Amino acid sequence: MRSPAVINISNIFQWLDDREWKPPSRWGALSLFFVCAAESLAVYLVGSMQANPKMCRALLLKAVAVGLGLVLGLSLARAHAESAATGVRIGVSAAATRFVLDLTDEVPFKVYTMRDPYRVVVDLPELAWKVDPTAAREHGGVIERFRFGLFKPGTFRVVLDVSKPVAVHSAVALPPRDSHLHRLVLDISPISKSQFDRTYVGPPPPEPVAARAPPPAEGAKRADGKHVVAIDPGHGGVDPGATGVSGIYEKELTLAAAKELKRQLEASGRYQVVLTRDKDVFLPLHERVQIARNVRAELFISLHADSIASDSILGSTVYTLSEKASDAQAAALAADENKSDVIAGANLDGYSGEVADILIDLAQRETKNDSAKYAHDLVEELDKSGRVLEHGVRSAGFAVLKAPDVPSILLEMGYLSNPREERELRDPAYRVKLMTAVKRAIDVYFAQVDRMTKS
Ligand SMILES: [Zn+2]
Repeated sequence: MRSPAVINISNIFQWLDDREWKPPSRWGALSLFFVCAAESLAVYLVGSMQANPKMCRALLLKAVAVGLGLVLGLSLARAHAESAATGVRIGVSAAATRFVLDLTDEVPFKVYTMRDPYRVVVDLPELAWKVDPTAAREHGGVIERFRFGLFKPGTFRVVLDVSKPVAVHSAVALPPRDSHLHRLVLDISPISKSQFDRTYVGPPPPEPVAARAPPPAEGAKRADGKHVVAIDPGHGGVDPGATGVSGIYEKELTLAAAKELKRQLEASGRYQVVLTRDKDVFLPLHERVQIARNVRAELFISLHADSIASDSILGSTVYTLSEKASDAQAAALAADENKSDVIAGANLDGYSGEVADILIDLAQRETKNDSAKYAHDLVEELDKSGRVLEHGVRSAGFAVLKAPDVPSILLEMGYLSNPREERELRDPAYRVKLMTAVKRAIDVYFAQVDRMTKS
């Protein structure tokens, strides 16, 4: 058997990197059209003005009419121009596993492999995902499953989880033919671990955080007396989080809950609220922390909804950061939540050290005390609201809670593996009640803070 050629895919598609792909703006296209039209008209008028002024006027009117028609047509064409993925197929042959993505347009793409765990990452421009949901369960050959979603503004990512070390020995964009649309076709074959390690280059380096985080809201609280609260809807984009019994993703529920909490806090007039994400986009854990720090948040609340093997367990749990987990379950959950970056294929080289340093920083002690205070208030309020709370406050090494200067807690709102609780969390009215308890705890916490600063 011929062993598949090992090709460094990152290099092949490196040239795509060299031209940042951006869809042309509608106004850009229109202004170009107007410049061309005006130029033609001027040339035409100068030539025919002397010959026949009457006919010239008629032609001018006609030209304007045609121009308007073109503008209208162009706008409509642009309105339909957003690229979309419309289908996924996985085929298995003796030599390779083939992954096919149907697309409405030809789009640039980047393909590379990653390890720990092994996966193939496909980065595309931001596009609409119109693939039949049943196709999301496609798998076969070396592909165990695939995930997709907005990775960051401008980048849509598809991640193929593969069962062993692989090489992508062919990645091509095919033009429409017969009944087929544009297609992106990847042929993936298993290779030995040593072959993989020899050719591994990893993902492109991450962008600096500062470029994407909102600017610091310096003195925002002091100026209008408002407390700054950062709310972090867990997961997002290519990282869906847990899946509920009805098929809903954790990322959808955390975003809905975060928006509800923001609404309630802002309605009180006492808080300035920052969401780490306000749409379905992936955000690395360290960036969530960084956003809270940049806006000088006084409290950071990360919202999640867990899923476990048992369908009978339900209730909310409040977590704080600790180097030593309070119990084995908390440790397992933190390990799970910390996988978010790995799941999305984020490149964390250069960040792990920083996080480790932060963890052992003694300056964090006061922050930890405040985190514990809020966690305690929250458990009390959830208890009053009738939530099931079996364990009080638990703790473990959650990466998203590692801001050294922002008191941070993580709330697992409930279990998506429990049919009743999943139904409740999907109900907007129920989320209002749950977030009211969270907001009350925030009120109690800041009342204490204000008393302390006054005395
Ligand atoms: Zn989660």
